[in-house]
Amino acid sequence: MNHVYFLTPGPSQLYYTVPQHIKTALKEHICSISHRSKSFQQIVAHALEHLRALFQLPTDYYIAFTASATEVWERAIENLSQEYTLHLVNGNFSKKFYEFSKQLKRNAQKWEVSPGKGFYLSEMPPFDPPELLCLTHNETSTGVTMPLEDIYTLRKRYPEALIIVDAVSSVPYPEIDFSQIDSLFFSVQKGFGLPAGLGVWIFNQRCLAKAEELLSKGKSIGTYHSLPSLLASIQKNETPETPNVLGIYLLGKVAEDMNRRGIKTIRQEIEAKAAIAYHHLQKNNDKFSLFVNDPSHRSATVIVAEVLHRPAADFIEFCKQKGIVLGSGYGNFKGVHIRIANFPTHAKETFQHLADLMAQW
Ligand SMILES: *Cc1c(COP(=O)(O)O)cnc(C)c1O
Repeated sequence: MNHVYFLTPGPSQLYYTVPQHIKTALKEHICSISHRSKSFQQIVAHALEHLRALFQLPTDYYIAFTASATEVWERAIENLSQEYTLHLVNGNFSKKFYEFSKQLKRNAQKWEVSPGKGFYLSEMPPFDPPELLCLTHNETSTGVTMPLEDIYTLRKRYPEALIIVDAVSSVPYPEIDFSQIDSLFFSVQKGFGLPAGLGVWIFNQRCLAKAEELLSKGKSIGTYHSLPSLLASIQKNETPETPNVLGIYLLGKVAEDMNRRGIKTIRQEIEAKAAIAYHHLQKNNDKFSLFVNDPSHRSATVIVAEVLHRPAADFIEFCKQKGIVLGSGYGNFKGVHIRIANFPTHAKETFQHLADLMAQW
C-alpha cells in the first residue's frame, strides 16, 4: 500500500504534514493529557487562532467543536429553528439535512432539483421566509457547487432568516464573506486531510440569540452541545465533553501549515488542478462525460464524471493498479460515476498522472 494515493472525496489523502504531526503528538502525550489541563487549553487556543486566520473570520463569529458535520445538521435544527426550515436539495447530503429537520418535527420545506443540477435563483418557487435557511455549498454526491454570489442573493431575499452553510467538501477553498451568512460547518476528513471524527461549527451572535430565545420559551435545544453550552466551554478554550483531543491538535497544526503556505496559493492550486481534471475528462469524451453541465455549477473540489460504455469500476480498478484511488459514484450512481477529490493536499503531478491514465485506459 506504499504508493497508493487517495483522490477520494472523504476520507481522503492525509494532508502531507499529518504523519509528522502525529509522531510529535505521540511524543508529547497528546492522547493522554487531561481535557481540563492548561496544555489542552493551549491546543484549543492554537487551533482557534489558526482557523480564524485561515477563514479570515470576523471577531463576532465563534468556533466550536462537534463530533462531525452530521452532528451539526441535528444541532443546527435544534438550536436555530422552532418551526420552519427551508432547504435547497440537490443530492444525498443536502437531502439528509432536510430529512433531519423532518425527523425533529420541524415544518421542513425543500426546493429540490435533480442530481447534477444546481439552483437558478430566478426559478425559485415562492417560499415564506424561513427561520433557518439550509444551504449546501458543495453537494459531494454529485459535484455541484453553489456560487457564493447566489448565497449572498439569498441573504438579500431572506434578510430575517438565519443562513447556515454546509461546506464540508469545499473548505478551505471558498473565499466566503462571513458577514453574509450566520453559520458554517465542516468535518475535517475532507479538505483538511485529517483523520475523521471531528466537526467544526462556526456561528455568530444571531445564532446564539435564537438558541437563547428558544431556551427561554421552554423549548429543547439539546443538552451538552447546545450553542450556549458549546460557547461557555469554548470561551475557556474547553469543550463540554472529553473531545477528540488528537483531532483538535492536528487541525490546529494543519491550519497553521495552510496559513504558512498561504490560502491564496492553495486556492490557485485547486483551480489549476480542477482545470486539468475537467480538461482531460472532456478531451477523453469517448470514455467520460461530465455530470454537471453548467460550468458555473461545477465544483472545483469534487469533480464528478460519468463513465461511458464500461463499468466505472473498471476505470477505478485501472487507476488503483497505478497507485491512484478514485471515489466511486454516490448512492444510485455507484456503478456509473467516478468522483475525484481536489483538496489542498493533492499534488498537481497526481492530476497530471490521472490525466495520462484517462488517455491510456
Ligand atoms: C461528508 C459530508 C457530510 C457528513 O460528514 P460526516 O463527517 O460524515 O459527519 C455532510 N455534508 C457534506 C456535504 C459532506 O460531504
